[in-house]
Amino acid sequence: MLQVTLQYGIIGPGAVGTTIAYELLRSLDRDQVHLFGKKAWKVPYRQRDIGEQSELQTQTLAHFDDTLDVLFIAVKTHQLDHVIEQMAHVIDDDTLIILAQNGHGQLEKIDHPHVYQAVVYISVQKTEDGVIHFRDRILQVQEDEFTSELAQHLADTRLELQLKNDIEVEIWYKLLVNQGINSVTAVGRQTAAILRVPEIRNLCRNLLEEGQRIAEAAGITLPETIVEDTMKIYAGYPDEMGTSMYYDITSGAPLEVDAIQGFIYRKGQELGLYTPYLETVYSILAAAENGKLNYK
Ligand code: NAP
Repeated sequence: MLQVTLQYGIIGPGAVGTTIAYELLRSLDRDQVHLFGKKAWKVPYRQRDIGEQSELQTQTLAHFDDTLDVLFIAVKTHQLDHVIEQMAHVIDDDTLIILAQNGHGQLEKIDHPHVYQAVVYISVQKTEDGVIHFRDRILQVQEDEFTSELAQHLADTRLELQLKNDIEVEIWYKLLVNQGINSVTAVGRQTAAILRVPEIRNLCRNLLEEGQRIAEAAGITLPETIVEDTMKIYAGYPDEMGTSMYYDITSGAPLEVDAIQGFIYRKGQELGLYTPYLETVYSILAAAENGKLNYK
């Protein structure tokens, strides 16, 4: 990866992927950045915080015959298997593959020497009219010689590649933050307003405490105050704010339950821990995702 001009690919022209592509295109040559979708089309894109807007051209992986130096994968976790089947011809052993996804456990699916799980702090939504970015452009990755070099290449972009000396801690931190609010909004099929109900706040706190216990048993040292801190973050959410799992469950779309609640739950089981709140929530969401629950 020592050449000066790198070829960047982004698979997944949705909320996160379009934002990464937009920021790269803004600062790099257009012929260095390739946004891959299921079909070739133009994605309308708007950054609400600074009023920028654009349209991003996508192409299909099948029609691309170059080798990428850096590949960001920004599809939902349940879409990853299909992407892995499709991407072999655009990478080689030197390609840096960065999974820009929530959840944990997906890295093991990719047999490659340079594959990284990024923790994504980008607030952005895909709507019927295109993608709307709200705030933040941060990807956290494990620091090593390859990611340090990539960070230098990206230094002139607004994409903030934060290098972490223990990415596992960051992944677990985000996992827990996602687990609490996503679980209660999805099970309750309500926006963040659901946290006004004392019993639901209690459930949310119990989920976080179980997650913290599992992380500790797995050897991950999270801040001692993570439960309190996270509950405070949730308390600042506007009532009308939805979560990705809330939007997905209410629209009948697949959830990322296997990579979030499922990963934490299985880790707890592996470690012999009793986690009744997580088990209940995971069972309900997994059943909902598999179409086994009838809410009518
Ligand atoms: P998204 O908006 O649904 O974007 C995923 C995109 O990938 C969609 O356009 C999807 O097309 C496309 N896609 C799926 N399979 C593909 C394939 N085989 N080839 C090419 N394109 C394909 O999802 P997202 O919100 O960006 O989320 C991506 C990941 O980032 C998730 O793990 C999410 O939890 C995480 N994340 C999201 C945010 C956020 O604010 N949105 C923040 C932090 C982390 P279809 O729609 O046609 O399937």
